[in-house]
Amino acid sequence: MSKNKAAFIDRDGVINVERDYVGSLEEFEFIDGAISGLRLLQNSGFLLIVITNQAGIARGFYSEKNFHDLTRSMNQMLAQNGVDITEVFFCPHHPVAGVGQYKQDCKCRKPKPGMIFEAASKHNIDLTQSVLVGDKITDIQAGLASGIENNLLVESGHDLSESGRVMAMATCADLFQAASLIVSESRYSSNI
Ligand SMILES: [Mg+2]
Repeated sequence: MSKNKAAFIDRDGVINVERDYVGSLEEFEFIDGAISGLRLLQNSGFLLIVITNQAGIARGFYSEKNFHDLTRSMNQMLAQNGVDITEVFFCPHHPVAGVGQYKQDCKCRKPKPGMIFEAASKHNIDLTQSVLVGDKITDIQAGLASGIENNLLVESGHDLSESGRVMAMATCADLFQAASLIVSESRYSSNI
């Protein structure tokens, strides 16, 4: 069986507007271009995998149940727009600020590649054929550490150093622009 290619997408700042610790539907607002960008990637044969650090859980700002409720709502809204998310992976830990069981130096918190490896193994993904879109340098570092070559940044207001930008294949205004760039690369469009 041939392997799948996937687009690994950070959530906050890429799919929804970046705010400090989005834990409820009231705080969740899609970014312009996010839904159309996801649809473009999906139509180009990429599985859509969301990978998101959720230190708000570690810090006790909201619960894992809150997170799952919000994820269900997000996935429903995306499905109504023809976008099928394969799976959402999240890291609820923080090495310093975590409370109780959530205080740990885990393998999943980006810039570590744990969530990407878990998804790749579960969904039979070829990382060399995959791409990543994030809005922080730590997203790009996680992609590079996993073996993904094409990691793209979108501008969400986070401070992106010049050294960070050069690690990324490109810096785009939003997810639609990033997706357009990805699908225009012949190496990705060849195996639709
Ligand atoms: Mg982000």
